[in-house]
Amino acid sequence: MLIYPAADKCTDKFAAEITALLARSDIRCHYTRFGERPVIVADDKSAAVLPILQPYRETIEETVDVDEPYQLASKRVRPNGTVIHIRDFIVGGGHFGIIAGPCTIETESQVLTAAELVKKGGATALRGGAFKPRTSPYAFQGLKLAGLKILQKAAKETGLATVTEAMSSEEVKLVAEYADVVQIGTRNAQNYRLLETCGEMRIPILLKRGYSCSLDEFLMSAEYILAGGNDQVILCERGIRTFENYIRYTLPIAAVPMLKTATHLPLVVDPSHAAGRADLVPSLSFAAVAAGSDGLLVEVHPDPKHALCDGRQSLTPEEFAVMTEKCRKIRTALQ
Ligand code: PEP
Ligand code: MN
Repeated sequence: MLIYPAADKCTDKFAAEITALLARSDIRCHYTRFGERPVIVADDKSAAVLPILQPYRETIEETVDVDEPYQLASKRVRPNGTVIHIRDFIVGGGHFGIIAGPCTIETESQVLTAAELVKKGGATALRGGAFKPRTSPYAFQGLKLAGLKILQKAAKETGLATVTEAMSSEEVKLVAEYADVVQIGTRNAQNYRLLETCGEMRIPILLKRGYSCSLDEFLMSAEYILAGGNDQVILCERGIRTFENYIRYTLPIAAVPMLKTATHLPLVVDPSHAAGRADLVPSLSFAAVAAGSDGLLVEVHPDPKHALCDGRQSLTPEEFAVMTEKCRKIRTALQ
């Protein structure tokens, strides 16, 4: 359950007192802030907790019982949903955010061209990896700091928000200096120390679903970030591994309405890594929009045939613009 002490009465000492009191009854507590509000997350329900907290009832503003294993991520915490807003990039609250760009930052001209073209095609955020999680240690690993500087330059020139991946706690801190959103990739979705670092940051985190994670596990990963006091989390469904091997991953489209019911966090869908092929990307995007996604993350390359990474699944800027226009029409039709 969630215990919200009155903000003016909640000191660290008060939280420590409550924590110690509940610990005597084997109830574990975690004290943090959710948005501006102090909150104590207890691992039991109000029926067990409230009698113990009787002496403090004047100091407690509100309590919320949550049935799910995740608590701060639960829809009950913010029924109207969380909205993430960076310049023109808005996800959640009925807004649709489109993140687009190459898999990898290769050169300055590649990124600047991609940025201009995806902006024209309807994107409000630019993606591009500087630290790349490659299956082979011999594959191109990304331009690292030099890549972050290119991304920052593209943001300055176009006004687009930027999203880029970090794979270690040190990289999270570095990326936060150059980009607007830190991406945690599918391979690190359950790297709990890394998620704790994201929780300490005050920058939006785009958390991809682990390709073998259940939705509960996905939301528990988000919970690690929220528990640290960072409530700016964007979920990203990017496909899971199944027995199907015609398609790179399987995009579980039902995850979209399911997550919208379960959590207040905004959700974007990545059709590119799910499909693994550019020709499938528009159909998956349309399905995601129709299912109620708050946005898309799409790989777009000015010259997909010569891309250093994921060219096969990258749209050309022209294909991207045609697709986003159709997405817009689908959204309008469903409103
Ligand atoms: C990416 O977005 O470039 C990426 C590597 O994605 P994922 O972690 O979903 O494979
Ligand atoms: Mn990629």
